[in-house]
Amino acid sequence: MTKIINVIKGTKDILPQDITLWHFMEEKALEIFTKYGYKEIRTPIIEATELFARGVGDTTDIVNKEMYTFEKSDKSITLRPENTAGVVRAFIENGMSRLSAPVKLWYKGPMFRYERPQAGRQRQFHQVGCEMFGIKEPTADAEAILTAVNYLKSLGLNDLTVEINSLGCPTCREEYKNNIKKVLKPYFNDLCEDCQTRYEKNPLRLLDCKVESCKAIFEKDEVKKVINSDFICEECAEHYRELKKYLDKLNVKYCENKLLVRGLDYYNRTVFEIKSNNLGSQNAVCGGGRYDSLVRNLGGDDTPAVGWAMGMERLYSLLEKMEPQKLDGYIVSTNSIEALSFAEELRSKGLNVEFDLQNKKFTKQLEKASKNAKYALILGEDEITNGTVSVKNLSTSIQKTVKRNVVKAEIKNLLKSSHKTMKINDTTVSVKNLSTSIQKTVKRNDVKAGIKG
Ligand SMILES: [Zn+2]
Ligand SMILES: [Zn+2]
Repeated sequence: MTKIINVIKGTKDILPQDITLWHFMEEKALEIFTKYGYKEIRTPIIEATELFARGVGDTTDIVNKEMYTFEKSDKSITLRPENTAGVVRAFIENGMSRLSAPVKLWYKGPMFRYERPQAGRQRQFHQVGCEMFGIKEPTADAEAILTAVNYLKSLGLNDLTVEINSLGCPTCREEYKNNIKKVLKPYFNDLCEDCQTRYEKNPLRLLDCKVESCKAIFEKDEVKKVINSDFICEECAEHYRELKKYLDKLNVKYCENKLLVRGLDYYNRTVFEIKSNNLGSQNAVCGGGRYDSLVRNLGGDDTPAVGWAMGMERLYSLLEKMEPQKLDGYIVSTNSIEALSFAEELRSKGLNVEFDLQNKKFTKQLEKASKNAKYALILGEDEITNGTVSVKNLSTSIQKTVKRNVVKAEIKNLLKSSHKTMKINDTTVSVKNLSTSIQKTVKRNDVKAGIKG
């Protein structure tokens, strides 16, 4: 018998039975990022090796140990280990710095790292990410974080913690690096091998170390004091304060973490990570930050930038374990024609609705509704005669009868009241139509209607 050929170690097929969640993640990415003004970019999977050496940094594990590199016609080529460098290259090469700022680009696709395969680590994995160019103000940092948070929420990951830190600028960071080296000097021989290398090349990355014996050293009083010292200059501090102010205003829960430095060399000022607390344990699902010098380092004009990436396999494993998304409504009726036309009416209004295609007994239908939907929409004989529907909330069992044309509002209101909403409804905004120049002032919560009207 001929020997079968297996998938390469550290890679995986995504099979048809698993594709639904991938589509879901991709569709939500397009939907949410478009709302924030991002456009998708697709860059090649292979790039010049030099791009990552210069772009990601040759003191990082990614570039030192984990790249898939090969030679072809005397050129050194690498399978992309991440996509910020590729997006920056495309930004420069296609003259996007001439576009008016901000230029907002998002991407999704496979990345490659030659890592020891272990749970949650693949050699081919997928990332989705956003990069924003041209804005140095902390509004950009806040909006980038908000975009990531809202993307995660759209996937149903609601219990999130945002960790932030400021790495300062190259100037103020230099002194901090030296202080860290100074205080760690007596412990040099106790540091792990990686940290001993980092000590010379990039001392800030020591703080990233996950080795217990290193972590214990960082816990020592005199070391901790240096780590927690306020080293950033006034300009960087002001940037950081502003960022926190915006996050407060936007009701984004965050905590400050001085040990958060991120594994890459190019970050300055803001760095952040988002952790999901869904399913009990904490999982880091997003990492990002500001990288104001990368575009220049790769040969472009001086262009501030901020961005983030998420590992899609990590998201997948969280979503997979969550309750499946329920339908908005399940129509319970023994009158198939009425049920069918009512279902269509609600679908055309954007609700996810099903009814019993087999016209089973009323009680069977109700059972199915409880299992699959948030609301049972009951069309009995009385309701059909009166043009009404009885809406039953399947988690509270509260039921009320309403006119059919208000069902959507009824459901949305009930859904909304279970979520926290932002308290910005009292203020107004002036909406100007840029083709007619007609302007009007409306309540913030009426902006959508104002724009559509
Ligand atoms: Zn600074
Ligand atoms: Zn270490």
